Amino acid sequence: MVKRAPIALALDAPNLEVMKEWVTLTSPYLACMKVGLETFLHSGRKATDLVHQFAPECDLFLDLKLHDIPQTVANAVIALSDIKPKYLTVHAAGGVSMVDAAVNAARDTKIVAVTILTSLEASDLTAFRVEDVSQVAIALAVQACEAGASAIVCSPKEVREIRNAVGPKIELITPGVRPIGAANSDQKRTMTPREAIAAGSDLLVIGRPITQGEDVAANAQRLAQSLL
Ligand code: C5P
Repeated sequence: MVKRAPIALALDAPNLEVMKEWVTLTSPYLACMKVGLETFLHSGRKATDLVHQFAPECDLFLDLKLHDIPQTVANAVIALSDIKPKYLTVHAAGGVSMVDAAVNAARDTKIVAVTILTSLEASDLTAFRVEDVSQVAIALAVQACEAGASAIVCSPKEVREIRNAVGPKIELITPGVRPIGAANSDQKRTMTPREAIAAGSDLLVIGRPITQGEDVAANAQRLAQSLL
């Protein structure tokens, strides 16, 4: 069996053609393909079908970060169920009832609760009077797991503390991962891939460091090999 690295590729592509190229070039090396808001809004189920068709061995991660009243989120989860994603994201800030509604509506899909985006730091959150972003992320993770979430999205910087707080069974998924020398772009609370894995991350979300370099396949292979 081919061993794929615990990386979810962020397929934030401008169109289906580019997305298909990325899926084909990288899926031999990576465990998971992530369809996010941008791609799902321009291509919908064609994007998720493409992952099932061209990367059948990879897990499908549908990253729509749902955040609404519980009934709306539950109905949205049901409306997406034909896609059969392994992972589907909701915002932990939507509250206990919303996460619980998503979990109860999901069939064969893990509800993943997003804590505080890695593009945010305390100065972005003054309206919420957040002084310590990590403490809020930990509290959101605990609350979401109590509501039934199976996995958490957090910064690699918070992985150790969140692991201690939620126990070994919850999957911890970390964006904000940057190989040494890669541009941070809009990510602020970052770590390198090896540091994130060493801290206890189960799955790394990586996009631009793979997709924006010249040789997309070589970027994926190099990153994967650095972890295996
Ligand atoms: O590696 P890169 O910065 O390109 O990854 C961006 C992707 O990670 C986007 O799809 C974005 O939605 C996702 N992301 C996330 N949670 C964060 C930060 C980014 O799911 N906290």
